[in-house]
Parts: sequence; C-alpha cells; structure tokens
Amino acid sequence: MSTPPDTQPDTLDPENWNTLREQGHRMLDDMFDYMEQIRSRPVWQPIPDVARAQFRQPLPRQPTNISAAHATFMQSILPYAVGNTHPGFMGWVHGGGTPVGMLAEMLSAGLNANLGGRDQMPIEVERQVLRWVCELFGFPDDASGLFVTGTSMATLVAVLVARHAVLGPAVRTQGIAASDKRLTAYTSSGAHGCIAKVMDMVGLGTDALRIIPVNTHYEMDIAALEQAIAADSAQGYTPFFIAGTAGTVNTGAIDPLAAVADVAKQYGLWFHVDGAYGALAMLAPEIAPRLAGLERADSVAFDFHKWGQVPYDAGFVLIRDRKQHFDTFASPAAYLRREMRGMAGGSPWPCDFGLDLSRGFRALKAWFTLQVYGTEKLGQIVAHTCELAKYLERRIAQTPELELLAPVSLNIVCFRFRCKDADQVNAAIIVALQESGIAAPSATTLDGKLAIRAAIVNHRTNKGDIDALIRATLEFGDAKIRS
Ligand SMILES: *Cc1c(COP(=O)(O)O)cnc(C)c1O
Repeated sequence: MSTPPDTQPDTLDPENWNTLREQGHRMLDDMFDYMEQIRSRPVWQPIPDVARAQFRQPLPRQPTNISAAHATFMQSILPYAVGNTHPGFMGWVHGGGTPVGMLAEMLSAGLNANLGGRDQMPIEVERQVLRWVCELFGFPDDASGLFVTGTSMATLVAVLVARHAVLGPAVRTQGIAASDKRLTAYTSSGAHGCIAKVMDMVGLGTDALRIIPVNTHYEMDIAALEQAIAADSAQGYTPFFIAGTAGTVNTGAIDPLAAVADVAKQYGLWFHVDGAYGALAMLAPEIAPRLAGLERADSVAFDFHKWGQVPYDAGFVLIRDRKQHFDTFASPAAYLRREMRGMAGGSPWPCDFGLDLSRGFRALKAWFTLQVYGTEKLGQIVAHTCELAKYLERRIAQTPELELLAPVSLNIVCFRFRCKDADQVNAAIIVALQESGIAAPSATTLDGKLAIRAAIVNHRTNKGDIDALIRATLEFGDAKIRS
C-alpha cells in the first residue's frame, strides 16, 4: 500500500524571510518619506482614469510579487488619498495621523489580536486607555467603555444603553413594540447627522428626535429644550435622551453642557455628549473649562482619530453606569463560556459591552500616541489649532473681500468671498482650492448661505498654511467674478 502524496500547500509565510524583510524595510521607508515630505505634495489631486482602472481587474487567481503590489500602491493609491495627512487639509473634521500611530498599527497587525474577549494583555491595554479617559474626563474609575469604529457607532452603543435603561430588560427580548412608552430624544439643530441615523436604527425613528433651535452662537437653546420636554411629557410621550454636542461639526459650537446636564437631571433623562472631535479639548488646560458639564454625562462618544491624531479608525464610547452597559449587551453563549483561570478568564469581556465580537487592537495606537507624546504635547496641538482658527478669523476681518459667517468657538472657521451669486461663486472657489492642491476646505450651509468651512485639526498645519488659504481664496474669487 502506498501512502497518498502530501497535499499540504506551502503556508502564507515567505520562503525567504530575508527577502521579505528587505521589502518590508523599503515599504516602511516609503511611508516615512511620505510623511516627512508631505508638504512637497498637493493636498489632493483628481484621480486619473488609468489609476482607477488598476482597480477594475478580475479576481487574481495567480500570485503577484509583493514588490509589484507595493509599486501599484505607490503609483496608484498613495498619491490619490484624500490628503488629511497634509497640513493644507482643512475639509470636514479629519485627523492628521502620526508616524508613531502608523508604527503602532504595524505592531498590532503583527500580533493579530482579537479583542472580543479572553485573558490577554491587549485587553489590559484597552482597559488602561479607558481608565486614562475616565481620568481625563473626570469620570469615576469604574465607568465602562470601549473602542469602536467612530462616533457614529459609539452613539449607537450609547442610545442602546439609554433605551435599555428606560425600557428595562424586556426591550431585549420583546423589542420596543412591546412597550407602551413612546420615547422621545432631544438634540440641537447643530448636531451631527449620526444621532438621527441612530434613532432610525434603534427602531425609534427620526421623528422621535426633537431638533432644538440654537442661539446666535449655534449653541443649544436651553429654554427651548425645556419647553420641548415639557410639551412632549404633557402629550404622553416619554422623553428619555438628550444629546449635547461638544464641538459641533458645522461651527465648532459647544452646547452649554452644565445647563443640559441640569435639565437632564431635573426631568430624569439620559445625558449624552457627542464629543466626536471636541471632547479631546480636555487635553488643553486653557480650553477644558469650556467643556464643564461633560463630567456629568451618562455617556460620551468621541474619536481618537480627529483631534487625538490617532490613525483611523479609533472611536470610543464611555458609559458611566457599567452595569447598565453590561446588561444592555451581555448574552450567554455556550461557546463563549468563562472560566476563573486559563485563557477563558478575565471576564467580563469587551464583547459583553457592545455588538462586536471580533475586535481589532485599536487600543494600541491610542496607547502609543498618549504614551509617546504625552497629554501636554497633545493638548498643545489642540490649543494651537484653535489659535490658528483665531488667526484666520483676524485675517478675514482685515480682508474686505471676505466675510466671517459664524463666531469662531474652537478650530472651525466659516467664511466666504463677498460677491454677487455668492453661493455659486463660493462653491466654485472651494472646488478650485481643492483642485489646486494648495488648501482643501469643505463647504457647509449656515442660515441658507453657502460657507467655505476650514476645520483646522491637523498638527502639521501652521500660519503659512492659513496665509496660503487666504491668498488662494482671493485669487480664485477674483478670477471667478471676472470670468
Ligand atoms: C465626526 C463627527 C461625528 C461622526 O463621527 P465618526 O467617527 O465619523 O463616526 C459625529 N459628531 C461630530 C460632532 C463629529 O465631528
């Protein structure tokens, strides 16, 4: 009898580690060069058809040399990213990333840790970051929290916990339809769209989200909030959730969080803070006092990938009441059985506090960023971006062709070029700026007016970049009104 031939294929590890090692070092050097020389590149450039065509290929059945794949990356991917590592990037609210964060990502990928559960040191790193967040935000040490993709997902977790807190455990088995309570939630007209999206997803519907008007500083009007809650209660609704914002996405306004906390307490509502980018202003001692009230929140959603400069993605949800949080998500499953010892120890696990079972090691890049740079330095970066926004505001005030469209609260400046057909012209200026590669603001609408919106988040941005934005805006504005 002959034994069958061994059909075991080669593993996915290289035949020659030294060749791969050299290749890896070249890739690392390329990314260091990219970051070091980022200023010599345009912020953004349109994607040529040939580059797009590289990614309209059939499924590769045969192997490709890694150096060829790397060459494709360098030629067809790297130059055509959105450019948020570039100091001239001021669109939306994007973080700049750091070389330290990049290296930490490499270490976590090598470890390939799954942080859903089990007794492992990577989860201790995540718990360390949680305790640092509690310390920074003035939360009790035993608050719970976890990394998620971003603030949108963090908001979903927070609303689910709040929903469970008001409806009790029956909502998990019977759903919201079984309750005779008609839940309503509250946020301002300046709030991010993820809150309405979450209301839809948790089965309450966007109509149950009451949009509270803002004052001239784009901050939630507290009297209007109280009136809305009282009116809903009188009509038999059950108000359950208020989302205040620390740094609105449009103008950077900070809702009066302490007053929102008072209202939430008085009426017995859950107090949530959307601190997507603004909560990390707690790192800057000169700005932190403006977030007073955040420490009273029942939940906070925020991102390390914006002002924290941690590479994407690194959202975080913080929940004051650990038991409520656990009770919202924990589910017994035979294959997730816990032990007091061995690998199945360390309970409760992160998977008991959210939907994700498989979870990457996002905590490592946040830990490295905090550990290596320290909070003082990171706070100085936050404060500096706000100073640059003030500088831009002053430059606008000194430039008769330009007009400021909203008060500058933190790091976001909304302005426009004064002219006839201003909406159309300013929309065209934004496109021209982006296509020039000089500076990349984005657009928003304030009181029906189209605004050029510069959100200064990147730690690499300096005064010269602000000057370049002003110069190019005037140049493109003049050219548009003349054409
Ligand atoms: C960015 C942002 C969000 C959404 O966060 P993601 O991380 O993109 O999901 C929500 N709210 C505010 C105020 C934001 O700036």
